[in-house]
Amino acid sequence: MALLLIFCLATLSLAALLLPPAATALRRARLRRRPFPAAWRQILRQRVPYFQQLPADLQLQLKRHILVFLAEKPFLGCAGLVVTDEMRVTIAAQACLLILNRRNHYFPNLRQILLYPGAFLVERVQADGNGLQHEQRRALSGESWVQGQVILAWDDVLRGAADADDGHNVVLHEFAHQLDQEKGAANGAPPQAGRARRARWAQVLSAEFEQLRAAVAREEPTLLDAYGATDPAEFFAVASETFFERPAELAQRHPALFRELGLYYRVNPLSW
Ligand SMILES: [Zn+2]
Repeated sequence: MALLLIFCLATLSLAALLLPPAATALRRARLRRRPFPAAWRQILRQRVPYFQQLPADLQLQLKRHILVFLAEKPFLGCAGLVVTDEMRVTIAAQACLLILNRRNHYFPNLRQILLYPGAFLVERVQADGNGLQHEQRRALSGESWVQGQVILAWDDVLRGAADADDGHNVVLHEFAHQLDQEKGAANGAPPQAGRARRARWAQVLSAEFEQLRAAVAREEPTLLDAYGATDPAEFFAVASETFFERPAELAQRHPALFRELGLYYRVNPLSW
């Protein structure tokens, strides 16, 4: 996997990750008590429309999460991009939507966010059935690596944030992959406590994934984006986008899936 990262501007500090848990919890508590900058509030108003829809307690919690997230996660501008507070706050606000109602869970494996101005090129070598190696070049709007990196294209971040109910959001998608990658390669089953919980998740999401694959194969219109039929990891990421951006339709058409996602994300977007 070779990615063109040669234009990245900054270096990475691992200090936040190396602190022991008690010191980390204390430091985060201090960060959460800091005043939320007025300029950042303005960015939320302008760039993150769903923020206004959240109930007051979740707005407050989200702002506190943003303070911690931005203190811990470095952003690296790539291909000449200069990272601004507008970019950092807009991305953090969407990523932290996925960790509401969790204490001290800030994407533990995530070390840095790489930000490109637009779609970035990825080169991969893949072997075919005849043993031949093919080099593929693709332009992407986002990627999440198990090694602790999320890569995003700023123009797609802006587009995803601007429309809060079209079911497409590259930040929610890639950070859902990060949650899924906490224990290794993404497989559509992010870590959850309790054997019964995990069994129910596997049962519901497998059935829904197969249902989407069949519908896509028959070229039927689907609520979940057809990209979710790629594999279980993409299914979870796509379902997460739909859960937050089109909750009413998801609850109506896929109630079991909506319930599982609600238990996992610990929120009910129907009430926003
Ligand atoms: Zn994906």
